[in-house]
Amino acid sequence: MAKTLVHNFGKNVSFSPTVFAEPKNEHGVIELLRQHRGLPVRVMGSRHAWSDAIKTDGLLISTRHLTQIQLNPNRQSVRVGSGCKIKHLLKFLKRHGLTLPSVGLIDEQTIAGATATGTHGSGKHSLSHYIRRVRVAHYEEPSGAPVFSELDNGAELKAAKCSLGLLGVIVEIEIEVRSAYQIEEHTEKHNSLTQILEMEKQYPLQQFFLMPWSWDFYCQHRRETSTATSRTALFYRVYWLLGIDWLLHVVIVLLTRFLGMPRFVRIFYQRILPKTIIQNWLVTDDSHTILTMDHDRFRHIEIELFVLRSDLEAALNHAREMIISFADCSNPEQPPASLNKQNRPPYCHHYPICVRRIRTDDTLISMTSPAELDSEEDWYSISFISYQSPHQRSGFFEFANSLAISMEKKFNARCHWGKFNPLSPSANQKLFPQLREFREIVKRHDPEARFANPWLKKSILDS
Ligand SMILES: Cc1cc2nc3c(=O)[nH]c(=O)nc-3n(C[C@H](O)[C@H](O)[C@H](O)COP(=O)(O)OP(=O)(O)OC[C@H]3O[C@@H](n4cnc5c(N)ncnc54)[C@H](O)[C@@H]3O)c2cc1C
Repeated sequence: MAKTLVHNFGKNVSFSPTVFAEPKNEHGVIELLRQHRGLPVRVMGSRHAWSDAIKTDGLLISTRHLTQIQLNPNRQSVRVGSGCKIKHLLKFLKRHGLTLPSVGLIDEQTIAGATATGTHGSGKHSLSHYIRRVRVAHYEEPSGAPVFSELDNGAELKAAKCSLGLLGVIVEIEIEVRSAYQIEEHTEKHNSLTQILEMEKQYPLQQFFLMPWSWDFYCQHRRETSTATSRTALFYRVYWLLGIDWLLHVVIVLLTRFLGMPRFVRIFYQRILPKTIIQNWLVTDDSHTILTMDHDRFRHIEIELFVLRSDLEAALNHAREMIISFADCSNPEQPPASLNKQNRPPYCHHYPICVRRIRTDDTLISMTSPAELDSEEDWYSISFISYQSPHQRSGFFEFANSLAISMEKKFNARCHWGKFNPLSPSANQKLFPQLREFREIVKRHDPEARFANPWLKKSILDS
């Protein structure tokens, strides 16, 4: 039988598992584990991760049929099949006047896939933090028989909230929900980071963008409100859909994939884009609509780094220097000599750098788990996206590698587990104080590391 070829969203990960299966229910998962006991096992959700997280040459299980949803009678949490997409869960919750406590920029991920890598939005904890119980299929020790375990307290729950699939196949998650809410948003240009951070108290859900080449900040100031949906909300949605999600992205794709001229990218960010951003349009709409966007219409790749608030300003300055240094040599801005290496592929960064605040999670290894035990300092994620097509990405990978390694050294920056992640095991060991505890729990559940793959062994399990 021909092997199935699997690609991720970014088409930077492609592989053919020996067995690809889509069990119809959780008993089907147990049956698969029984039948293929000797094979390594990985699970895939929507395949949106850019890291090697889903890769395996053994058994690959898709959770697309595990999509049941059941609201608990107290309406404080919901039990949801691991393969349920966030958009379907949000739709279900909306019918009950409820929603999730946190949502990322898109809603295409599955609930287990999103939480397995610590997916987050802005102003709240990551989604993983809100998990109350995880039901997981794995091999029982010492019999080796496949069984279900319920993880609902202590360090095991903290590990299961963001596990990268290392504890086995998650079949169901119980996660907190909250009443549906409205968000008020307006966008404003700022010249300094200090100004933006000062406004955080007023707008705790805000996120902001550092524009490459103009180096201006644009902040989407956001806060919860009891106001009804604005009359102009529909026009605002159309502006976002046509103006940002479509037109802006078409221009960026054309500039980067076809024109390939860094000079045009700089002119676009310095002279054209600023004229098209509508500032101070105050709009209220439901949280799901305001928080999500459709920038996944075009294939892209991303690296996202996490620094503590105290390092944010220096980290953004460093990123700016790196971007200048990596751009084409026709760049009028002089790269700092220390960063300017010869013979590397040029990379002209061409996408707004999104910065989001995330509160410390009660997990062991999500990117926003405590920096030190008991530390509650907020984390800020800084994301770098490239819309170059898959065969043009050598410059991006060089840039992303250098950025991750230098930011790890200078600012103890962590890398998103579900995005391009080149950090070494020794770096991760230093960055995640609870990694040792996580490894011990994984070892108890899966002593032979059957649910791991080479990337996970290299970056997480090997000490
Ligand atoms: C366009 C785009 C926008 C994004 N926006 C954000 C954002 O705003 N914030 C953010 O933090 N991240 C964001 N991400 C990253 C994304 O949320 C993560 O990569 C997430 O893990 C993808 O979920 P998925 O369902 O596609 O999982 P997959 O990519 O299929 O899998 C991810 C990991 O989860 C594991 N897994 C999946 N299901 C199970 C299961 N049932 N049991 C055990 N393990 C499982 C897989 O083995 C793998 O390790 C974005 C990604 C894209 C492509």
